[in-house]
Amino acid sequence: MGGPAKPRSIAIAEPVIGEAEMAAVLEPLRSGWLTQGPKVAEFEGAFAAMHGVADAIAVTSCTTGLHLALAALEIGPGDEVIVPAFTWVATAAAVRYVGADPVLCDVDPSTYNIDPEDLAKRITPRTRAVIPVHLFGLCADMDALRAVLPDDVLVIEDAACAAGATYRGRHAGGLGDVGVFSFHPRKSITTGEGGMVTTDDGDLAARCRVLRNHGATISEEDRHRGPAPWRLPDFELLGFNFRMTDIQAAIGIVQLSRLQGLIEERDRAAGVYREGLAGLPWLRTPVVPEGSGHGWQAFVTVVGEGAPMPRDEIMAALQELGISTRPGTHAISELAYWRNLLELETGALEVSSMLERQTMALPLHNRMSADDYVYIIDALHSL
Ligand SMILES: *Cc1c(COP(=O)(O)O)cnc(C)c1O
Repeated sequence: MGGPAKPRSIAIAEPVIGEAEMAAVLEPLRSGWLTQGPKVAEFEGAFAAMHGVADAIAVTSCTTGLHLALAALEIGPGDEVIVPAFTWVATAAAVRYVGADPVLCDVDPSTYNIDPEDLAKRITPRTRAVIPVHLFGLCADMDALRAVLPDDVLVIEDAACAAGATYRGRHAGGLGDVGVFSFHPRKSITTGEGGMVTTDDGDLAARCRVLRNHGATISEEDRHRGPAPWRLPDFELLGFNFRMTDIQAAIGIVQLSRLQGLIEERDRAAGVYREGLAGLPWLRTPVVPEGSGHGWQAFVTVVGEGAPMPRDEIMAALQELGISTRPGTHAISELAYWRNLLELETGALEVSSMLERQTMALPLHNRMSADDYVYIIDALHSL
């Protein structure tokens, strides 16, 4: 290999946390307002504006956000919710939290997103909703999906990976009835842990706000700042505590202001990968369909025929060279809990299982140098 001899350690993902985030957390710490308050409200407003939606509701994670959205839509026992099998386990787990039945559907091998044709086959009279996932930052083909769905089936976007991503000129989070984002450090922007629910439906947003805060009819902030802070609110619904803290929101506000720039930088890096890896017929780089603005949460390749060694050996060889890689994600259908619950055989969701075995995410984040990309491209060519 041509590169310099100095040892490397390139992480699979690494957030950009700067002085601005550090300064921002001091404000709630100094003011003493630590839980959901003015910083959360500001973060919600900025997030909604950037994603072109009427409302945004901050929560503790994408997982709790999905749970909240399903509860607010009154999806529960007896209902079926269709979920792609190739996704993080939380997408399906949230359906179980409200007592509904997840129905797994397969994905498209080129986009990794829900396959509308397979989706159509899974629809029954009990289907209440679908949760398309915008995996790795690429929006699902929402028009094709909507075309096969009955009008009364709700669409909940799992936009965990898709902050800032676009589909035919519109942002993720505004493409279905409700969208849910993640601010885990593996995602495009972070608040440590955190999530955001987005919707254009004012009634749904109001229900989410109430359910997020124990089902209380008035938030703590409104009560404390209102004329009768001593009066406890009524509780009309069984709610949760899914509130984000103002400390996290203070970080989120700064992170959000970086988002566009971070995506543009990663988009350029993805282009470097695509060009540098074009000569390797056994490694398929991600496709970006016409009209999609990829958010590049991850750069996920497929190790295909003619590879010099099996995928896991490639990953081990790259680790030796200080390059972290990961499988794209798992096929839920191969995980013990779901196999038992849904009584699935190995390989039941064929494409999802294949992608679990063959996908390989390469490092793509905003703490890498131009030289790191060259090093990784060279390493892949030398295998
Ligand atoms: C990360 C992720 C989640 C879970 O997000 P958390 O904020 O960690 O709860 C859900 N769905 C997908 C597709 C994810 O990638």
